Amino acid sequence: MYVIRITHCKRELSAGQYAQMILRVKAAAPGTQFKESLCGWWPATREEILKQFYQMVTDKINEAAPPRGLTANRLSCKMRAKLKSKCRWCGMSLGRYEDRERRFCSADCRRDFNS
Ligand SMILES: [Zn+2]
Repeated sequence: MYVIRITHCKRELSAGQYAQMILRVKAAAPGTQFKESLCGWWPATREEILKQFYQMVTDKINEAAPPRGLTANRLSCKMRAKLKSKCRWCGMSLGRYEDRERRFCSADCRRDFNS
């Protein structure tokens, strides 16, 4: 599950809990003081916390890391699902991905190619 780590107190919130918290801060009157902020144990105002929040969201979006679990193997599976091979002899689309050795539309094409 997607969780957000509040680094200074090692708490983990679900995205839902986190959204609840931000909504509570947002609902407060401007200038309200909170006991703690997202970046430390010191008190912060409503505006400071919201600013930290938008900064965090921006950081997350800007992270260039590839999606978790997308290994080279899974990537090649994805590519195979999208790619359509062509017959190596006549060039006709096979309508599916085939390994290089099997990339022929018919036994005739394979034979002609290999002869
Ligand atoms: Zn062919």
